[in-house]
Order: sequence, then structure tokens, then C-alpha cells
Amino acid sequence: MGQVDPSTVVEQAVEGGYAVGAFNMHNEETTEALVLAAEQARAPVFLQVGRAIVPHMGLRRAYEMTRRVAEASSADYVIHLDHGPWEEVFEAIRLGFTSIMYDGAHLPFEENIRTTRKVVEVAHAFGIPVEAELGKIPDADEQVDWASYYTDVAEAERFVDETGVDFLAISVGIVHGVPLSDPQPLEIQRVKEIKAATGIPLVLHGASGVPSDEVRAAMGAGVHKFNADTDLRHAFRSGIEAVWSQGDRQLEEALAEGRERMVAATVEKMELYGCAGTASSAAAQ
Ligand SMILES: [Zn+2]
Repeated sequence: MGQVDPSTVVEQAVEGGYAVGAFNMHNEETTEALVLAAEQARAPVFLQVGRAIVPHMGLRRAYEMTRRVAEASSADYVIHLDHGPWEEVFEAIRLGFTSIMYDGAHLPFEENIRTTRKVVEVAHAFGIPVEAELGKIPDADEQVDWASYYTDVAEAERFVDETGVDFLAISVGIVHGVPLSDPQPLEIQRVKEIKAATGIPLVLHGASGVPSDEVRAAMGAGVHKFNADTDLRHAFRSGIEAVWSQGDRQLEEALAEGRERMVAATVEKMELYGCAGTASSAAAQ
């Protein structure tokens, strides 16, 4: 219980054939929703400090709030930096994050390799695993030529080999956000090929809006961490809107309803990913 080792959590998911969920916190109530869901589902949870929160409250405040809320719970949690740029990953390591994603995907390939290798060296010295991303993940409903966005299998093999990253986020048809049009089906065959070439656990970002059967197929092919945000944010928002549609209400009342609906939506994800019931508290009983 309490803070758990991210590598162990993912390793257990690999062995058990399921995946763990990583979800963004946005404020006190959404952080509470994530740890309440982890307690309720008895699932480990990656509490993610994502891209939107950093300009809003700063990395330190986001970390400290997440940590304070998580420590007050009985959840198994990891505090994870999502899509960290170069300087921020080192700041996150200093602050006490125990899991880091370094995002050098915008860099030329060789530079991505070089900088990622450096991050891995530093992070591993502190016992912190590193996730990186290869291939591009478009935003929902962006018009893209998918062929140029997919993670290339040979590149993935070389990247993992030369950088020593622990987990690899890949692009196989997913988007950030929920597409309004029919989603692109996941290329499960490509997931299998990347898994075979790299041998490390794979990560899918943008797992909101992906049909359940594709989520299961991806897990079977080597994905052991899903990042999902949009579906949970929509659940929170629907709670706020439901309260305010009844007239002018206290902000607390609206936030409480948002939190409650986000807990339910998060538990649903944990059940789908198969990590429900796998927390150390569940094993002890
Ligand atoms: Zn992402």
C-alpha cells in the first residue's frame, strides 16, 4: 500500500496478461477521484501530471498536491510525469516523481536517441524507470496520413536497444482525445511486431474512445499500460453540468458530483484493463 514501484507494477501486469491505467490529475477533486477509484477497484494507479496542468499550477504544486492526496489514501500509486520535455524531467526527478515519460518524439531520430539515453542514465541512477514515445500521436480529428504517424518497427528496435528505455509508447492508430468520426482501428499486428522487436512493455496513449475489444486485443499483443484522460474528464464535466442544470448551486456541490462520476468512470477503465483486484491490499486479503 502507498507508493509502489512502477517497474514492479508493470511487470506484474505483464505476468498477469493485463494492463495498468495512467490517468491525469487536474485539481484536488480529480486527484481524489483517481485514488478513490484505485481504492474501490483495488487497482494500482499511475497518477499522471500531464501537459495541461504544468502551465496552470506549475510542476511542483501539481506534484505536491498529488502526493498529499495519494498519501492520505490506501491506494497503491505511482506519481508519473507524462510527456515531459528535457528540463522538466530533471526537475521532476528532483521533486520526487518515481516514474517519468520523456518526450523527444518531436526531435530528429538521432537526437531523440541521444537525449533519451541521457534521461535514462540519470533516471536509472535514481531507480526511476523511463517511458519514451516513438511515432507521432495525432490529436483527435486531425487529418493525418497514418502511414507517417505509425511507429516503425525497425526504428523501435534500435531506439529501445540504444536508449535502454523501460516502456515504449507507440502510435498504432490512436489519437489524443476522442475522435468525433469513427476511430481508426488499432493495428494490432504492428503492436505484436514492435513487442517482438523490443521485448519491453508497450504503452498506448489516447485510450479513451478505443472500443473494448481493441483494448483487449492490444493487451494480448503487448500493451501493459494505457493512458486515458478524455473519458474521465467528460465524466467529471457531466457531473458539474448535471448540478448546474438545476439552477445556481454551490461550486462544491458541482465538484462533488463531478468527482463521484469520475470515480465510476475510472473504475470502469480499471476493470476493462484487468488491473482491478490486483493492488497489494487485494493480494493481502
Ligand atoms: Zn500522450
